[in-house]
Amino acid sequence: MTSPAAERSLADAAPTPYWLDDAARPDPTPQLAGPRHADLVVVGGGYLGLWSALLAVTREPGRDVLVLEADTCGHAASGRNGGFCEATLTHGLANGVTRWPEEMPELVSLGRANLDAIEETIATLGIDCDFVRSGALSVATAPHQVEELREERQVAAGVGQRLTLLDEAALRLRVASPRFGAALFDPDSAIVEPARLAWGLRAACLAAGVRVVERTRVLGLGREGQHVVLRTAAGTVTARQVVLATNAARPLLRRLRLMTVPVYDYALMTEPLSAEQRTAIGWDGREGISDRTNQFHYFRTTRDGRILWGGYDAIYHFGSRQRPGYEQRSETFEMLADHFFATFPALEGLRFTHRWGGVIDTCTRFTAFHGTAYDGQVAYALGFTGLGVGATRFAAEVALDQLAGLETERTRLRMVRERPLPFPPEPVRWAGIRATTWSLARADRDQGRQNLWLRAMDRLGLGFDS
Ligand SMILES: Cc1cc2nc3c(=O)[nH]c(=O)nc-3n(C[C@H](O)[C@H](O)[C@H](O)COP(=O)(O)OP(=O)(O)OC[C@H]3O[C@@H](n4cnc5c(N)ncnc54)[C@H](O)[C@@H]3O)c2cc1C
Repeated sequence: MTSPAAERSLADAAPTPYWLDDAARPDPTPQLAGPRHADLVVVGGGYLGLWSALLAVTREPGRDVLVLEADTCGHAASGRNGGFCEATLTHGLANGVTRWPEEMPELVSLGRANLDAIEETIATLGIDCDFVRSGALSVATAPHQVEELREERQVAAGVGQRLTLLDEAALRLRVASPRFGAALFDPDSAIVEPARLAWGLRAACLAAGVRVVERTRVLGLGREGQHVVLRTAAGTVTARQVVLATNAARPLLRRLRLMTVPVYDYALMTEPLSAEQRTAIGWDGREGISDRTNQFHYFRTTRDGRILWGGYDAIYHFGSRQRPGYEQRSETFEMLADHFFATFPALEGLRFTHRWGGVIDTCTRFTAFHGTAYDGQVAYALGFTGLGVGATRFAAEVALDQLAGLETERTRLRMVRERPLPFPPEPVRWAGIRATTWSLARADRDQGRQNLWLRAMDRLGLGFDS
């Protein structure tokens, strides 16, 4: 049952992503005109596609690069996410340490360098996207999680990650909530305005001579002689090389169709807090925050003093179906609003101005995988599983290394060379995802204790703590 306070708070919320509801949103580019060939064609204009195009012309100035985007750049996940730009390339420490323990020190160091490079590019290009390297807090909301924080700090130190443990009193100096018991602070994390970052990268691509063509969906791939042929409704385009950066959309390569599932994630944005409301919760540091339950919330502030509050529900639809209508889900928004006021009771009366959802591309190892097709002429990366704001830039570097046939510190990684297990076909896929979601929620209610299903998933390398 939703509380009346939560219901009232949502009454005027616009059903659209806050970040895209911005006068700075650029007009779409003109349709495909000019030469129908490019040296490199990038399919998809989210972060992965835009970083791939920008880094391609940075590595080789003057290179003929064409981005084909089905809608407009940044309209999908890249323009509607939480804006947590984290250093991790493994979707967190625990996931990385259990899968690639011997590589973790290198992965941590490469992830930090990747975050540094994002920060430097934004500064050099002057992208106005409120990038703040404020660090991230991972907060315990149940007693058993406090012990986990201690263990995690120790594991992190062993792989070169500097985390600080804050007890309840120290944490209260940064942010006040009756639900928070302790936290780990990670300095290697930033927040950013997601759509502004995508639009800034798009502008940088255009300025560097990249052709960006929006509202042009690639319908299929093929090969003719030395060239890759991309089919669109406006005719075919040929390329010497291709980067596929289509994230949660149905993959153009058949071999990738069972490798990810689309999962809907939801968020709310509040109106700006008043000075009294800000004082009541005392959250001045702009840290990105998430809680440590399996079904976790993520929350951060904006430059004009709002709070973005998202996460918890992760909704999969049978048959991997995607529909624009799935981006709105009242029961999820009401539950999120209830959780928000339980976390910050001092903010009762605050209203939400925006509510939205988006699709994340979940894979069975929870972090992106990389590969090539067509004898190395096509490179792809997908499976970011909800943590791609930072990792997409690294993936773009990997894709360009692979297309150039280079062996680098990136392409040598086992993490980059290995593939995750595919998902099973329906109806087993749906049943498996349901069983996992149900078991994770139950573990949250039961001091983190895993049931038989989750332990079996872990043993197969398919669990979040595998
Ligand atoms: C609600 C939500 C919150 C999130 N929060 C965070 C967060 O706080 N931190 C974080 O790190 N990550 C977060 N993520 C995940 C993050 O946004 C993604 O991992 C990242 O944006 C992926 O970038 P991308 O370029 O691969 O995909 P996208 O941004 O989805 O771009 C793919 C593009 O490809 C285009 N496309 C697809 N098929 C075709 C085709 N056939 N032809 C032409 N174009 C095509 C699409 O139109 C789209 O624009 C969140 C995601 C969501 C949905």
